Amino acid sequence: MSTLRFDALKASMNREPVAVTEQPKRSQAFGANVFGFSAMENSLPKSTYKNLLTAIEKNQTINRDIADQIANAMKEWALSKGATHYTHWFQPLTGATAEKHDAFFETTAPGRALERFEGNQLVQQEPDASSFPNGGIRNTFEARGYTAWDPTSPAFIFGTTLCIPTVFVAYTGEALDYKTPLLRALHAVDDAATAVARYFDKNVKKVSASLGWEQEYFLIDKSLAVSRPDLELTGRTLLGHSSAKGQQLDDHYFGTIPSRALSFMRDLETESILLGIPVKTRHNEVAPNQFELAPIFEEANLAVDHNSLLMDLMKKVADRHHFKVLFHEKPFAGVNGSGKHNNWSLSTDTGVNLLAPGKTPMSNLQFLTFFINTIKAVHDNEELLRASIASASNDHRLGANEAPPAIMSVFIGAQLTKVLSELEGVTKGKLSPQEKTDLKLNVVGKIPEILLDNTDRNRTSPFAFTGNKFEFRAVGSTANCANPMTVLNSIVAKQLKEFKKEADVLIDKKGLKKDEAIFNVLREYIKQSRNILFEGNGYGEDWKKEAKKRGLSNNKNTPEALKIKIDPKTIVLYEELGVMNTTEIEARYEIEVEEYIHRIQIEGRVLGDIARNHVIPTAVKYQNILIHNVRGLKDIYGKDFNKYASEQLLLISDISKHIEAINSGVTTMINERKKANIIAESIEKAEAYCKKVKPLFDEIRYSCDKLELLIDDELWPLAKYRELLFTT
Ligand code: ADP
Ligand code: MG
Repeated sequence: MSTLRFDALKASMNREPVAVTEQPKRSQAFGANVFGFSAMENSLPKSTYKNLLTAIEKNQTINRDIADQIANAMKEWALSKGATHYTHWFQPLTGATAEKHDAFFETTAPGRALERFEGNQLVQQEPDASSFPNGGIRNTFEARGYTAWDPTSPAFIFGTTLCIPTVFVAYTGEALDYKTPLLRALHAVDDAATAVARYFDKNVKKVSASLGWEQEYFLIDKSLAVSRPDLELTGRTLLGHSSAKGQQLDDHYFGTIPSRALSFMRDLETESILLGIPVKTRHNEVAPNQFELAPIFEEANLAVDHNSLLMDLMKKVADRHHFKVLFHEKPFAGVNGSGKHNNWSLSTDTGVNLLAPGKTPMSNLQFLTFFINTIKAVHDNEELLRASIASASNDHRLGANEAPPAIMSVFIGAQLTKVLSELEGVTKGKLSPQEKTDLKLNVVGKIPEILLDNTDRNRTSPFAFTGNKFEFRAVGSTANCANPMTVLNSIVAKQLKEFKKEADVLIDKKGLKKDEAIFNVLREYIKQSRNILFEGNGYGEDWKKEAKKRGLSNNKNTPEALKIKIDPKTIVLYEELGVMNTTEIEARYEIEVEEYIHRIQIEGRVLGDIARNHVIPTAVKYQNILIHNVRGLKDIYGKDFNKYASEQLLLISDISKHIEAINSGVTTMINERKKANIIAESIEKAEAYCKKVKPLFDEIRYSCDKLELLIDDELWPLAKYRELLFTT
């Protein structure tokens, strides 16, 4: 083992878990660093607090006077907690979070100073943020972007900085972040779902989307990770022979959490709890050194913020524990990658989960309405939903026999399949009153009991109904959840609006009773959406053929998948709902295509560097040792030396073959990159990177990994899979 690797390994093995102190009762520490509703209620005049609540509820702007009062209370609270700075905290289209700290401190006269923070600093800021991706929306001569306070997500203190969640928009009003379209989509689904929920209960005034994400990740010892430029620069290993022992024995999944990892988790959870992130579940995942964390679900916008915040926090806490946390969807070949299931539902301000079957036939009709409309929305927009989770890193995972396929389908379980079939078949044409009663009693009325038995959960499905929520499982672990959540809530909003329109026509023009009208529309939807329902094995080859027959898309890579984002149908969808305008849609598409190109380009460069600067020189070194050995044998045995040196000679020639393959592979790859780089149209360039550059990675890697097996372990400079995956 090379001294560098040996030292790193020794250091990581000798590390003790970092001590953490924890509050015995998390409920008491929960949200201590959040300026949430209770902190606001305690520190604001009653009327101001009420005004703020109304503004949040009704999406109204907050006037300057109220803003000043809130800013002042926020500042006093933050100072009392030891904060010195404030920042508008936002999520630009890099996928990460952004912050620029300003001190509360201000001078008032020579030698005099105070802490100041006013309404205008709370409500709006103009960061010099011209270097964030904008897809051409912001020309440099007009490079202004604004951050504006999002009062629906509470401010919090991170370190010694008061962070105020904000949206990020261009001077001309277009969204430059993830949050703005998400908020618009949530508003659209609120409007549409409230109108439909009011068929069943006139008291409903608001419907909120909920999101419960499950974050998977790897923990790698920091000193081992440092020996891998690929992990450091791309977040994944671009080469490395698989370890003799991987996940074959399934002995990591749900196993005892290693003590260093557990100490990291406890530290992370303590910090999360203070920040109001309701973390709940932790466990080992399938691959060695892979783990998962899940919180209790929350309102979708807050849940998205909390996931972004958590990912930030994880990097910081991991550092303290001498870990590097990997969010990449496929950091290691040959073992499972990481995802981020998005559990989603809709619930009313009267406390009803619209995707939970109720106790009465009528509430079950409500359940079926939202259930079937969601299925129809996915059916009509499967390609857009696929696009919402497309990224260079998630391409490694989708369809890779461990994660859902790139084909979107909905799993609802055998029992609900039966319910839908019965509903579809009960009557042709108009329902008679008698049939309607039978229907309610026999089918709709029994759903709660049926669901209790419905435990068969098909893990191969990308979009599964799991009792009282849908679970979007194809989301990647690096993703900002805002992207899939914007799409899902938009398509459901559009669908519910159409449904309402159709049902109203039957009620107003045809004189049908409300539930009869609803049932009639739903029955048609079941027929129209059949193709998206799939209960079988999503990993199988048969499904690919079957899906093709059904006309479902199977966009296997990101450039292919992204195209639907600028389809006229998509533009109409977003414009009608007010989620995004054409400029915003096109800009985002452009940014994502560019990002794909850059990711593959960086990987190509890093792989080329490692192959030529690490692997080949090491191979040559070892080959020279062998050559020296063969020469010595020749000295001793003369012309008979062949008998004694045959293995060495074979090794020498094998090494040469691999060196030659790596070298020519890298040269070809560089040439293909050059050809791709001069393509003007970005989507064509992305396709060239996908089809011409990326496949060469495998060839280069193949020879590198073979050399890893041939070469003296003492010389090999890069931490091996067995070291990266089995030390914690
Ligand atoms: P799994 O079997 O996938 O591990 P669970 O059934 O335990 O999942 O739940 C997974 C996640 O679903 C949890 O994080 C939970 O917060 C979330 N969840 C539960 N109910 C809802 C809901 N109504 N809306 C959104 N998320 C929910
Ligand atoms: Mg799950």
